[in-house]
Amino acid sequence: MSFFHTHLLLPLAERERHAGLARRMRDIRRFEALSPAAQREQQQQRLQRILQHAYNTVPFYRHRFDDAGFRPSDARVDRPLPLPVLKRDDLRDGGNMLLSSAFKLQDLRRAGSSGTTSTPVQFYRDIEALRDKTAIQLQLNHWSGFETGDRVLLMWGAHRDLSMEPSWRWRFYEETLLRRIPAPSGMINEEILERFRERYEALRPKVLFAYSTVLAAFAAYLGKHGMKHRPSIVIATAEVMNDENRRLIESTFGVPVTMHYGSRELGMIASECSLHQGLHFHPWSSYVEFDPIGNTPDGPAYRLLITDLLNYGQPFIRYDTGDCVALGPSQQCGCGRSFPLVRKILGRVCEGIVLADGGIIPGITLGTQLAQMGHTFRSIAQVQFVQKSLEHIHLRYAVKGNEMSKQSELSSICTAIDALMNQPMNWSLEQVADIPRERSGKIRLCVSELPTPESSFANSLLTPERPQ
Ligand SMILES: [Zn+2]
Repeated sequence: MSFFHTHLLLPLAERERHAGLARRMRDIRRFEALSPAAQREQQQQRLQRILQHAYNTVPFYRHRFDDAGFRPSDARVDRPLPLPVLKRDDLRDGGNMLLSSAFKLQDLRRAGSSGTTSTPVQFYRDIEALRDKTAIQLQLNHWSGFETGDRVLLMWGAHRDLSMEPSWRWRFYEETLLRRIPAPSGMINEEILERFRERYEALRPKVLFAYSTVLAAFAAYLGKHGMKHRPSIVIATAEVMNDENRRLIESTFGVPVTMHYGSRELGMIASECSLHQGLHFHPWSSYVEFDPIGNTPDGPAYRLLITDLLNYGQPFIRYDTGDCVALGPSQQCGCGRSFPLVRKILGRVCEGIVLADGGIIPGITLGTQLAQMGHTFRSIAQVQFVQKSLEHIHLRYAVKGNEMSKQSELSSICTAIDALMNQPMNWSLEQVADIPRERSGKIRLCVSELPTPESSFANSLLTPERPQ
């Protein structure tokens, strides 16, 4: 990042997020330069500090810690915290009991989560956390060579992000100073893809930054209509990426895709490095636990539990992200970072099909299977699986063109999924005009109507797979 941006432009143009940016970036880079042992030592101090703060100032956690007989000074970064997980329902029901009394409400910044539930969740963060989260995101960008001030085309989905003030000041800040060109992507159709294409060729961005499904749709569109410009960096975020989409994007743009991972509640917390062996979770900003939830065709799957080390206004301790992940054979990466390494984000835990024996078939596996079959489909355009019970799946589908082969395609889908699960399911079918995107711009392949499973007992047996 240029000195100009870090020290002058961003802190002056948008103080809210960027005050003290240069100092924060220095802090993060100093942390990254430490030995793995020193990093773990510092992470443990940061973990204990926020746990102690939560115990002292947040009624919700004081009760939890007391009930569990847990003292913050007992926390170790090489084992699971012996505490219940924090769920989205806790955020919804907890209200002010989750806020730290060390802050006045009017000093906290409110944010909302779109998530996968129908009721959006409100939460807060303190201003220092907001600035630290901005800094960590810029550092993750830096890993891929994307520096602030580089010309970037953002194909962003959440409508909330785009209901930005259309004032000239905002546009000047976004487009001229940061050189960020936002483009709405909640709805993807030919007309919008053509608008992206025009902006893309006119602006010739160094960086493309988007949801992975949006990127894949854009790559396919460019494949059909031709492209002149090539970006140097392509970053995909917010959704899982299947292998087919990855290949499509990489062959279209001629550069490897860099995945970022984050959420509204936590901000960006992980990124691939230049070796693309998986996502590194940055230990400066969060403490990650992998909670085993069962086997999938991709190997053992883990639920991702995150303790946010930055947000003192409303601490998130053992927050259940709702995402499940696969780990690699090793936690070592050739880049030398000893940060927790996730080979693959498998998808929302609830966005998979739960089997009677407790295993799950993640949405990504279903998506891959469908993508392989979909090439031959002439009638079925879109599907969505709604799991009603352990034995019952409701299949919603939309058709395109003629409906001649509809029945045979539907039955081949059911047969393929039954085979994946090693058990026949009861299927019900419903034709719909269109599978709608979520307000966030995401499409959900699987919708679970099962009650959320409780934290696995296996958690207490978890041996963390990280370098010693
Ligand atoms: Zn690496």
